[in-house]
Amino acid sequence: MERVYNFSAGPSMLPLPVLEKAASELICYGSSGMSVMEMSHRSKDYEPIIAEAQSLLRTLMAIPDNYKVLFLQGGASTQFAAVPLNLAGRMPSGKALYAVSGQFSGKAYKEAQKLGINAACIATTKDTNFDHVPVITPDMVDADASYLHICLNNTIYGTKYPYIPETGSVPLVADLSSCILSEPFDVSRFGVIYAGAQKNMAPAGLTVVIVREDLLGFAKPDIPTMLDWKTMAENDSMYNTPPCYAIYMAKLVYEWLLDLGGLGKMKELNEKKASLLYDYLDSQDYYIAPVQKESRSMMNVTFVTGDADLDAKFAKDAAQQGLKNLKGHRSVGGMRASIYNAMPYEGVEKLIAFMKDFADDNPKNK
Ligand SMILES: *Cc1c(COP(=O)(O)O)cnc(C)c1O
Repeated sequence: MERVYNFSAGPSMLPLPVLEKAASELICYGSSGMSVMEMSHRSKDYEPIIAEAQSLLRTLMAIPDNYKVLFLQGGASTQFAAVPLNLAGRMPSGKALYAVSGQFSGKAYKEAQKLGINAACIATTKDTNFDHVPVITPDMVDADASYLHICLNNTIYGTKYPYIPETGSVPLVADLSSCILSEPFDVSRFGVIYAGAQKNMAPAGLTVVIVREDLLGFAKPDIPTMLDWKTMAENDSMYNTPPCYAIYMAKLVYEWLLDLGGLGKMKELNEKKASLLYDYLDSQDYYIAPVQKESRSMMNVTFVTGDADLDAKFAKDAAQQGLKNLKGHRSVGGMRASIYNAMPYEGVEKLIAFMKDFADDNPKNK
């Protein structure tokens, strides 16, 4: 069977050369005589894999030396709890600030509240169904707050902050699950970055946390050990068994990105794909792109026909043409094309050709 163009929001496409390389090493890795899946995480064969993965990620993202890189489990959702538990105690106020720009940042905010944290929402765009990201200005960020949490790219709504908010001395904590590695980010602007790997980095099972060293050590003693960044950092992500195979896959993805020319080059390719699709959307009136232009995501492109039945037919017909998983998130409907790093340019060209045919074949006012 031929491979399809998979527009899934996550888990999502991996680069074909990465899959091929993994396949070639699947049963026997190097001279180890075993699969990476079968290795002890403390073995001589595995240790260079995790070390190399970390060093490649540091190179790719130009992560400064005063940041720790953690390879954890539990998904981005576990970090919704880990962030307040590790960081709310940084200031005597115990105050944690949140900007709610979609479902995941909303969940992060709720999780902090659930844990009894003094959490406040300083900005939200809920009243316009998250069709843009909030404006965050330095004066909105209380200087006595322990941190400000944002979600930089909103996977479900297809929005992204076009800027990194200025927060003064308050550390910015950002969920980058669906935009990490899509372009260069200035890591030094963030106190903490975290991301589930299954959107743009590796298979599910790995969560990357990048944390500035001076932000470690503010957790209360009763924090569950597995959520304690400091413990994980002191043990080089090996306090317990890390997600060994997903880390190996991430390493292959990092190598692929470096071979390609790094994140600057990746951004160029991603911009080309995204503008092809947005330019088409802007050139016609059969499909509507609900996101305000300045908040458009380069990774998740949402659109609707305005007719729920047609939307459903679109996703179904597209799937038959090898364009899979174009149905929007269950909470918003419509369509969503996730065009992460691994989506080839031709995939977007094929999608647009299909969109044109579909519009011709399914007139709206019958
Ligand atoms: C997918 C996603 C999550 C949830 O990730 P899990 O790894 O499933 O917990 C959180 N935030 C963003 C921005 C996402 O795209």
